[in-house]
Amino acid sequence: MSKTKVLFAAAEAVPFIKTGGLADVAGSLPYAFDRDQYEVRVILPCYTCISPRYRSKMKDVMHTVMHFNGRDRYLGLRELDLNGITFYFIDNEDYFGGSGPYTDYTYDIEKFTFFCKAVLAILPIINYQPDIIHCHDWHTGLIAPYLKTTLNWDPFYQNIKTVFTIHNLKFQGLCGRDFLCGISGLPWHLFAEGALCSGSGGNMMKGAIQFSDKITTVSDSYAEEIKTPEYGETMDGMLQWRSPDFCGIVNGIDYETFDPKTDPSLAVHYDIDTVAKGKAASKAALQKELGLAVEKDSFLIGIVSRLTEQKGLDLIIPALDRLTKKPCQFVVLGTGDYIYERTLQEYAAACPDRMKACLLYDEALSHRIYAGCDAFLMPSRFEPCGLSQLIALRFGTLPIVRATGGLKDTVIPYDKAGLNATGFAFENYDWGGIHWALDVALDTFLNHRRAWNAMRKNAMRQDFSWPSSAKKYEALYRDVLG
Ligand code: ADP
Repeated sequence: MSKTKVLFAAAEAVPFIKTGGLADVAGSLPYAFDRDQYEVRVILPCYTCISPRYRSKMKDVMHTVMHFNGRDRYLGLRELDLNGITFYFIDNEDYFGGSGPYTDYTYDIEKFTFFCKAVLAILPIINYQPDIIHCHDWHTGLIAPYLKTTLNWDPFYQNIKTVFTIHNLKFQGLCGRDFLCGISGLPWHLFAEGALCSGSGGNMMKGAIQFSDKITTVSDSYAEEIKTPEYGETMDGMLQWRSPDFCGIVNGIDYETFDPKTDPSLAVHYDIDTVAKGKAASKAALQKELGLAVEKDSFLIGIVSRLTEQKGLDLIIPALDRLTKKPCQFVVLGTGDYIYERTLQEYAAACPDRMKACLLYDEALSHRIYAGCDAFLMPSRFEPCGLSQLIALRFGTLPIVRATGGLKDTVIPYDKAGLNATGFAFENYDWGGIHWALDVALDTFLNHRRAWNAMRKNAMRQDFSWPSSAKKYEALYRDVLG
């Protein structure tokens, strides 16, 4: 029996380029499929900012020109095999140059429209006909509309199915309607009738929701939430309409990359049997590295995150006042909105032995924070899945979360499950909620060590590795192929 051929299309994937959880999913999920039955390849933009370590190993596959936005443009394809998975890279330095994957929003719309068109254009040239193109987030939103409209006369494309995964509904690729119609070359009626626009603006993600054969998002709770006006970002009606073809599949993490027993970024290694000693040593090392007071009884709380409203920064900042007066310490690793960065920096400057703000992106330091902290704070306003709390669980660091989306599906709260819990959760997005959860966590850490230690082991026993999610995607692929 021939293998099912699946092509992942995404704007980022580890280890090549990462700004958030999308990269972890696109770069690690392909390895979790049953290799006897599925052959998964991945296609990404060939950003010039990808490390030379990888760029130097890429092989040129072909180059041509593609007519796009009024003129012929260079279109190259490069390829790299990484541990048995083929990664393709769409090359055009005008679009994919620069210091990061994303630039100015309008330019991003143009470059990812180019990417969508290019992904489809190269397939017949390299004679690769996937059974399914699995598209991720708005950057790939026009692939299904192209397949179902301008390309549907062509037998090469007619049997290709599409799956679209929403990693974050907040970002939809919104722009001017005439602009998107003009650059994409998609028929005007799609815009006039609303398939590719919301209100008077163009909307790339809406096109994917309308035209993909199946739609998924990254947790069950978020799948339910985004069918309501509160979380639906104006797509709730559309998602309700697509309900029969829409479901949640929770993300996983790569248990080899995130393993406190072998992690090369850590000076001290531990597993579930040595967690108490291992975490105590990791905590002391982290406190020393960050210049915090080295105190074993201070409650060390960590955050590794984009510093944006979504991640609950407007709850975290007022909580700092209270926390710095208690036996707590706080470390934040992240970049994001200037106002949050500045405020965090000011707090850290005011109490350097209790708080550290690392305003940068640093993978290795993030691992030491996951290992060295007692608790991990993630009070998101909304959270499609969240990977950071899964990584924290893996390292025996108890998450303190708001019960929303994937956080609700992956953290078992102490007030409901007692000794079977894996973390702390509050319901309402308000200061009362976060203060309550932080107080319960601190009290448990200080006064109920037996419960704390039991929860830490429960956390490490959870299995959020990729294989169980991959099984669900395999079932979905079987369903879509009939
Ligand atoms: P999102 O994708 O919404 O940003 P997730 O929790 O799904 O949030 O994924 C975030 C990922 O990015 C995690 O792997 C987290 O450790 C990582 N991350 C976020 N900010 C930083 C940072 N400043 N340095 C290192 N890793 C980071």
